[in-house]
Amino acid sequence: MNVVRLNTAHMTLEQAKKVIENVRIVSDKIAILVDTKGPEIRTTGTREPIEVTDGDFLMIKGDPDKESSKRCLYVNYPEFVQDVPLNSPLLIDDGALRMVVIEKNEEYLLCEAKNVGKIESRKSINVPSVSFGLPSLSKKDKDFVDFCIQQDVDFIAHSFVRNKADIQAVQEILNKHDSQIKIIAKIENQAGVDNLDEILDCAYGVMVARGDLGIEMPYEKIPGTQRLIISKCIACRKPVIIATQMLHSMIDNPSPTRAEVSDIANAIFSKTDAIMLSGETAYGKYPYEAVETMARVAREVEKSRSDIHEIPMVVLSNKRSAYLTKTAVEAASAINAKAIVADSETGRSIRNMAGYRGRKPIFAFCYNKRTVRELALSYGVFAEAIEETKNSYEFVSRALAKLLEENRIKEEDLVVVIAGNYGSNFGASFIEISPVEILLNRHEIYRDRN
Ligand code: PEP
Repeated sequence: MNVVRLNTAHMTLEQAKKVIENVRIVSDKIAILVDTKGPEIRTTGTREPIEVTDGDFLMIKGDPDKESSKRCLYVNYPEFVQDVPLNSPLLIDDGALRMVVIEKNEEYLLCEAKNVGKIESRKSINVPSVSFGLPSLSKKDKDFVDFCIQQDVDFIAHSFVRNKADIQAVQEILNKHDSQIKIIAKIENQAGVDNLDEILDCAYGVMVARGDLGIEMPYEKIPGTQRLIISKCIACRKPVIIATQMLHSMIDNPSPTRAEVSDIANAIFSKTDAIMLSGETAYGKYPYEAVETMARVAREVEKSRSDIHEIPMVVLSNKRSAYLTKTAVEAASAINAKAIVADSETGRSIRNMAGYRGRKPIFAFCYNKRTVRELALSYGVFAEAIEETKNSYEFVSRALAKLLEENRIKEEDLVVVIAGNYGSNFGASFIEISPVEILLNRHEIYRDRN
């Protein structure tokens, strides 16, 4: 695994802190991603579960301070009644209970239940196609964002992002604290899909949160939407994560269904950066087996994926770097090099290379440990930290020595090196293509001469 996600909808600050400490004991390469709850609508608390039968009528009002009961169901958003049109379907508890609005006045909605179910405290309510005017961040979200800043985590995945303003609200808090945390936009409703372009202008990356997305839009639209989101993200070099139910049956079983294996393969053939587990590892009976299965399936499927993705060149830092990165990926493929070896300060040129989805691994040596963890989300990148070197000869020899030691390359392998001659802030300035042993000898000659 490369990234640990903490879903704050189900955690206290103390529990989250414990998980972060544990991850950091294990590795300084595994990135930590914390989800907010985001602008979502929930029922208020109830004393006891509200039992509902097919055909029952329920009154709904918007008031976060009132307790829900069979007489009236309250939700946390005061404008709920005004915003929901007559005849709208309401999906409670991730769609477990379906209701339809059959009457509406200024005070309440009257709804008819369409199946048997029960409503416990603080359950989600989805109203497909309705975009509510909820604030971007709840009080609990703000507390978690402050916590993330204190803990200096790597990513915040903001839930139910509808537009760029939702991302900017989190970014403003991060800026106030000079925080380097990167924001992942969770796309889980129609507004998020419709406004994806402006969201991509502001977010570091995207998560296709298929659980809620499949409630907010007809689930048959999910595969096409997933493909569209992946291709938009690749074009602008933003990491994209495919999430939810990838190995759902492994919550209870030690092996996956064939359809789940194909779901992982479909995400990989569409060239996503990352695939994610949730319930499988959060509360499933086989968390280890689920991670192991996902990694094994991904490795096998990747053998039959296609090479280089035809996308326009983009300038992430400067034109020089944009040309060099595209050339490095093309050259590695054309001459069948073993790998691309690169140096990086911010990770920008590495993400640019990852966008082309070449088949050759990119070994990224980063002068900054945070960059190593950020690149955990990027396609085909194996990142590690390296101390600033005196010159590019020294960089090449140290990086190659490390890769030899880890058995990732052999002396006779051909590699494409892309690095900078003028310090880490200048970015890539050259490409060199050569067998590993020649690059190492050359450094020895240079070192002996000086
Ligand atoms: C989802 O809805 O698919 C998702 C990833 O969000 P969460 O797990 O926070 O519900």
